[in-house]
Amino acid sequence: MRVTTVFSRLLRLPGVWVRKVRFEPERVIVEVALRRERLVCPECGYSTAARKDTRPENSVWRHLDLGVWRLEVHCRRRRLWCPVHGARTEGVPFARPGAEFTRDFECLVAWLATRTDKTTIKRMLRIDWDTVGRIVKRVCADELDPDRLNDLYEIGIDEVSWKRRHNYLTLVADHRRGKIVWGCKGAGEKAADSFFAELDPELLADPYPEHGEIQPQSRDAGEREKREQPVGDRAAKLRAISLDMGHGYAKSARRHAPQAVICIDPYHVVQLANQALDEVRRGYWNELRRIGDQQAAKRFKDARWSLLKRPEKLTDTQAATLARLRAAGGEVWRAYELKEATRGIFAPGLQIDDVEILIDRLLSRLARSRLEPFVRLGKTIRKHRDGILAAVRLGINQGRTEALNNNVRLITRRAYGFHSAKAALALVLLTCGPITLHLPHELHALAIG
Ligand SMILES: [Zn+2]
Repeated sequence: MRVTTVFSRLLRLPGVWVRKVRFEPERVIVEVALRRERLVCPECGYSTAARKDTRPENSVWRHLDLGVWRLEVHCRRRRLWCPVHGARTEGVPFARPGAEFTRDFECLVAWLATRTDKTTIKRMLRIDWDTVGRIVKRVCADELDPDRLNDLYEIGIDEVSWKRRHNYLTLVADHRRGKIVWGCKGAGEKAADSFFAELDPELLADPYPEHGEIQPQSRDAGEREKREQPVGDRAAKLRAISLDMGHGYAKSARRHAPQAVICIDPYHVVQLANQALDEVRRGYWNELRRIGDQQAAKRFKDARWSLLKRPEKLTDTQAATLARLRAAGGEVWRAYELKEATRGIFAPGLQIDDVEILIDRLLSRLARSRLEPFVRLGKTIRKHRDGILAAVRLGINQGRTEALNNNVRLITRRAYGFHSAKAALALVLLTCGPITLHLPHELHALAIG
């Protein structure tokens, strides 16, 4: 068998044949030629027989490694004139437009990025982290289903901090599917507005029809018009929107989907209770250190995860620590019980009447707790009681939203090293969105089968 035939079989690059194989120190260069005669625009697929000029473009893509060898695919490409995109170098079936890697290589990078850490990927594939970011963006744009915003009924809008403080991403979760379906840079009302604008783009042309049309003498008419701002087709399907306890998202949600019930995401309620517990624990720890009990202070610092994790998820050592804390009693143990009671109002299988009783019982316990952070928690819960009950009534599952949120937070931490927020968003969508990623060999098997 000739070496070009061997490489043709080994690489399985679609739409090309192998002209020549060259070995250089540390890399193999495979020269290929396109099978098709017509030139295709890489952006839109427009095809033509006419070349724009005779100047060829020598292009290089990195492919999956061959054992210890780095493998490069070289191809001479022609240029065409696309009526939409102008002068372009012709597209190739084995790589995405603008990519310096083959689809197979990018597919492996994307799969790994959703599953493992930065150092592993960089070392294993010999690429830098920003390159991973660019690949992840391309794969996400390619794989994300454009129809994923159809048929949304219960959604959650939430922010997650990215990189440094005050750098946020806003994410929209589809509660039914338990997936993140949309995201943008930034937080608050504006970010939610841009979600609704993308949900119903036909309203985008004039999102605030009342602007500039209100005559001074007809302020009432103007007010009415403002209230009757048209609701988009897809926004009109929303039954419930769950939010944190801030104001920004709520304002936007009420304006764009006035029929939807605004509820409080159970995840945030439990998160607040966890923060209150941590405050009490820290206060107690500082107190121990102040009175010079270093040994106890050290033991206590390690107790953090025993307290914050769900009891059913504790390791044996953590469970033992928790038992010691129970035996010791005191305010930290009381704080722990209050945190668990807060989580308890979202326990699966409770009827709404039971939850109402539980929440009121909890509120009076919190008010009498004599623990400042929990008294504050009680006030916040009281203020949002209706929204919390609405979440329970609509079946927004605390365990599921918490799992999704924890996953999102893990991924955004992995994305810290990216320079662009778009790359961070792409990684969140690839990992938590409605996308199934496959490995190169699985894709080839699917293509053959
Ligand atoms: Zn084009």
